[in-house]
Amino acid sequence: MATPVTLIPGDGIGPSIADATVRILAAAGADVEWDRQVAGMAGVARWNDPIPDATLDSIKRTRVALKGPLETPVGEGFRSINVALRKTFDLYANVRPAYTIVPGRFDNVDIVLVRENTEGLYIGVEHYVKIGDDPKAAAESVAIITRHGSERIVRYAFDYAIAHNRKKVTLVHKANILKFSQGLFLDVGRMIAREYEGRVQFEERIIDAMAMHLVMRPEQFDVVVTTNLFGDILSDEISGLVGGLGLAPGANFGTNAAIFEAVHGTAPDIAGKNVANPGALVLAACMMLDHIGDRGRATSIRNAFEGTIRDGAVLTRDLGGTSTTDQFTDAVIARLG
Ligand code: NAD
Repeated sequence: MATPVTLIPGDGIGPSIADATVRILAAAGADVEWDRQVAGMAGVARWNDPIPDATLDSIKRTRVALKGPLETPVGEGFRSINVALRKTFDLYANVRPAYTIVPGRFDNVDIVLVRENTEGLYIGVEHYVKIGDDPKAAAESVAIITRHGSERIVRYAFDYAIAHNRKKVTLVHKANILKFSQGLFLDVGRMIAREYEGRVQFEERIIDAMAMHLVMRPEQFDVVVTTNLFGDILSDEISGLVGGLGLAPGANFGTNAAIFEAVHGTAPDIAGKNVANPGALVLAACMMLDHIGDRGRATSIRNAFEGTIRDGAVLTRDLGGTSTTDQFTDAVIARLG
């Protein structure tokens, strides 16, 4: 029986790369029944809500979604898309794999970043502090790290390593300065790591040193786990090591659902021109196929995709070529045999 999956094509280049992805999955024979829903500006246009209840209801039903990039409307009164999704589905683990397809600056990068998605400095608890007559004399942002949140994300990273036959987990922190919040994350990490001793190696890095090690010798890293803010920054750095945002997929796993997406945005500068690289969403769809148990098709799509890129004859502009989204998609499909 076909697996129901919520499809949110998104805004800007979203519909075009979503069409390309759906075509590639269909050509590979993926047994998926798409439930098309809207969000972002398309949600505002249809329901006056960037994250309509119909879309949330669909994900509650399917528990799996593939999401194109969304434009968050500016102005008051609209719900934040990411906050609504994160809260509704408790999407605590953001997973971003990045690996070398075409050797360039680096040859053997193969890193999976696991970022805590619900805590840390991004919880949105902020206020100004009035001193004397100045109502904005200072500003305070609160970072919350909990034992529960730290335990489940570090455990997620180790379980991911085992499930995907990976050897090492690197925990990234700043416990030398933020002794309480980052200290708790590190303490919990060390405790969880002991449970996996002998099965997965464990190492620790301080965030600033990690940023340097990543651009000097990224090949040494395997699975990397860190808190929300550091993960946000490192994931973009890591995608830059392997060719940029056009090839960067991401997944958000929670207790109630999994949502797969391209890391990049709506690319308004190239929307409607049929030149966007659908790669990030295609690779996100491969992660989705892995998740629903169709690893075979995920692997054949990845092989066809990587083959097309290595061949170099049909490439989109961001990868140095001149081909359109449709031509690139056709080339991938042709390689599926
Ligand atoms: P962006 O990622 O949309 O674009 C940055 C640059 O990368 C642009 O030059 C763009 O043309 C290029 N680019 C991005 N994806 C590409 C692709 N698949 N193929 C070829 N080139 C590609 O970032 P931005 O311009 O900062 O943001 C634009 C909009 O996207 C904003 O409204 C932002 O809020 C939204 N956004 C959404 C998400 C999401 O939904 N996950 C993520 C980031 C930004």
